[in-house]
Amino acid sequence: MAQTSSLHLTCLCGSISEPGSLLSDQETPVYAEMCHCATCRYTTGALSVPFSPLKSSPSATTLNKLQAYASSDIATRYFCPTCGCSCVFYTAPRDQWYFMSGAIEYNPDIKAPAESRNNIFKVMRHAHILDTKDGGLAPFLLQLGDRSVPTWAGIPPPMSASQDSYDLPHEKILSMLGASSKSPTRPPQEDSYLTARCHCGGVNLLIKRANHAHGDRSRCNYPPDPTKYSTYLCACRSCRLSTGVSLYPWTLVNAENVFNGKTLTSTDGPARITFGFEASNPDANPGLSLKHYWSSHDTCRSFCGKCGAAISYWCAQRPDELDITVGILRSDDGSLARKWLGWTWGECSFSEGSTDMELYEAWTRAPGLIKEAVPAYLNS
Ligand SMILES: [Zn+2]
Ligand SMILES: [Zn+2]
Ligand SMILES: [Zn+2]
Repeated sequence: MAQTSSLHLTCLCGSISEPGSLLSDQETPVYAEMCHCATCRYTTGALSVPFSPLKSSPSATTLNKLQAYASSDIATRYFCPTCGCSCVFYTAPRDQWYFMSGAIEYNPDIKAPAESRNNIFKVMRHAHILDTKDGGLAPFLLQLGDRSVPTWAGIPPPMSASQDSYDLPHEKILSMLGASSKSPTRPPQEDSYLTARCHCGGVNLLIKRANHAHGDRSRCNYPPDPTKYSTYLCACRSCRLSTGVSLYPWTLVNAENVFNGKTLTSTDGPARITFGFEASNPDANPGLSLKHYWSSHDTCRSFCGKCGAAISYWCAQRPDELDITVGILRSDDGSLARKWLGWTWGECSFSEGSTDMELYEAWTRAPGLIKEAVPAYLNS
């Protein structure tokens, strides 16, 4: 346990820095609620978004640096216009400010042990689970550490209410996972496209269904089913601080299969998306509100310049592959888009970068949990 005064609230480019003492909790791990709603998914690209409450508003300096996006009449989200990190969330009915838990770190001048760095926040409630249709990541995150986490179909009561109450039993959530396995909607045809669209609609992509050749060694291929793209979670610091979310979901897509959804009606058919070094050219990707942040000389993270949703990751070492954020996908079978994506259950890159080890450890138990709950799910 540490005092929150040794933390700061930040973003990948470092433009944002608020003192940890602004958090409502004064000791680590700090309280967090994890939201699974569609708006959170479409404004971050994540599947589940942890928020930590603040004592009061961030400073005017910080709010002026951030770009505001009103995601509804009653909620405003603030993201860093340089690196795209979702940082702050404000909800008017409760007059409550939150910081994205994934963007909370130790002050750079503090040498905290790994045990502390990996346990900065802890998720105490899950919200809006029914919004996912398939349970999303919630079925895998019901037991965190030694706690059984209360789960809510929609919005939970205020934080001052009993923290033990819930309205959606865990059995129901596990059965959502099973139901989506037993009655999948029709599988996509070879020439069909999956829409990837941020909340504001400024970024609208079309991803052609995977069709990997047998034995294809590309990282995009999901060998158990070559009509799907390989999909995984990442806990690295760079993903975390460019999104505000720990345990970040990516699907690996062949770049040649990603098209500009806004050119669909043109006579030439949809245009391929330009990623990488040429993407910053003003003529690239007409009609899309894509912005780019180079987190290293050869790594480009792209996000929506209007609503802040993270969209993609590209690096020069594998220029023909593109990581697309799972949270912006619009598959009719649910938030995990299992008709299109092949999930590597329980796997997570760079787990040492996690700031909530309970989440990571719960996710590593996913294969066993699935096997027990719905045996057919593993191979589907
Ligand atoms: Zn930033
Ligand atoms: Zn939400
Ligand atoms: Zn947008």
